[in-house]
Amino acid sequence: MRYDFSLEQVAWRDEVRGFIRDHLTPQLLDELREAGNEGQGPLARQFVLQLRDRGWWGLPWPKEYGGLGRSAIDQWIFVDELEGAGAPMLPLTVTSVAPTIMRIGTEEQKKEWLPRIKAAEVDFALGYSEPEAGTDLAALRTRAVLDGDTWVINGQKMWNTMAHTATHNWLAVRTEPDAPKHKGISMMIVPMDAPGVTVQGIYVWPGLRTNAMFLDNVRVPRDFLIGERGMGFYYAAMALNFERLSIGSVAMTRRYFRELIALVRELEVDGTPLRQMPWVRERLARLAVDIEAARMLGLETAWALDQGRVPAAESSMAKVFVSELAQRVADAGSEILGLAGQLHPDEPAAPMHGRLQWLYRTAPLLAFGGGTNEVQRNIIAMLGYGLPRK
Ligand SMILES: Cc1cc2nc3c(=O)[nH]c(=O)nc-3n(C[C@H](O)[C@H](O)[C@H](O)COP(=O)(O)OP(=O)(O)OC[C@H]3O[C@@H](n4cnc5c(N)ncnc54)[C@H](O)[C@@H]3O)c2cc1C
Repeated sequence: MRYDFSLEQVAWRDEVRGFIRDHLTPQLLDELREAGNEGQGPLARQFVLQLRDRGWWGLPWPKEYGGLGRSAIDQWIFVDELEGAGAPMLPLTVTSVAPTIMRIGTEEQKKEWLPRIKAAEVDFALGYSEPEAGTDLAALRTRAVLDGDTWVINGQKMWNTMAHTATHNWLAVRTEPDAPKHKGISMMIVPMDAPGVTVQGIYVWPGLRTNAMFLDNVRVPRDFLIGERGMGFYYAAMALNFERLSIGSVAMTRRYFRELIALVRELEVDGTPLRQMPWVRERLARLAVDIEAARMLGLETAWALDQGRVPAAESSMAKVFVSELAQRVADAGSEILGLAGQLHPDEPAAPMHGRLQWLYRTAPLLAFGGGTNEVQRNIIAMLGYGLPRK
């Protein structure tokens, strides 16, 4: 593996940085802070459309599907710069659903959905989990039955984050009730405005909204089943693999860590500068090592993709390490900043606009988003080291 960026990669990084410098305004940052996960505000939408107009929405997609055909390392640089600056993040529609459709869809389905995703016209919520199916996704019960040329769907999805703002759902449904449970599932696209779809908000611990989604005789055209019938479990696994690649980026955590360091340089406690306290320095130094290690894990994953490999174990490693590192940075920040670090983002006196407190509340979600870390450790053991399934 090369550890240095090539001249072209450095030029690309500078181009992205220049774009961010010119377009990521303080007003947009305020809007993002206020919006949380309640959808895109007008400034965020404008920023996304400017990215789209440059073709950066489909950066690593093959040219035949309207992409720029750039490398996974270029995509890594792009995401690293966006997230590192606090810009709107690439949605899972682009980083997880689109690459899956690209691999499993029929030519007609690719022609139908990929241009609409690239035009930022459609946005998907991810409908895998159900009340009785989380890690054990193959236990899902939502049923789709073919009626002429229409699928009729009935059931309930759980933890359907963004269902209240998305235009469509990327839904795992049971289409083959008599097949073994892993082979009876298919992936389907469901428009959120289809009659029979109901979304109910669920507010979880950090104040984020997720949803329950109910499907009551929802009808979608036959070719909204993507790829092959009965292969949905494997397609969902593929999409989750792509999702983990996104969660494995350390850029957001690194940004908070740098802001914490900036505060430590300035603040004093009882007349002693924080920067001189041995325990503070030691804690920050340990985190700095971890952040560099996380960066390398992300880069290695991107590099493996560029070699044509599916980096399943590597993406799980990056996801486990980065999600737990986010919690360590939040823990350290809370201890170092003391009571001030616990102030809510709405509180004007909150250091770092309350971002560490926000990270403290939200980081645990990363440990199970895209599949729990316990399960990721099993994947690392099995796919990375050939250990038997437990
Ligand atoms: C805020 C939030 C947002 C979410 N967003 C979405 C979303 O948008 N779309 C979606 O489809 N889902 C979403 N989820 C669901 C999430 O992916 C699941 O919660 C997760 O997969 C775990 O499933 P579960 O909650 O049923 O827990 P379980 O599967 O019951 O697991 C409980 C515990 O047992 C452990 N465990 C289970 N099986 C194994 C095993 N084989 N080996 C080792 N340990 C095991 C798990 O690691 C976990 O610690 C969201 C959940 C939350 C809370």
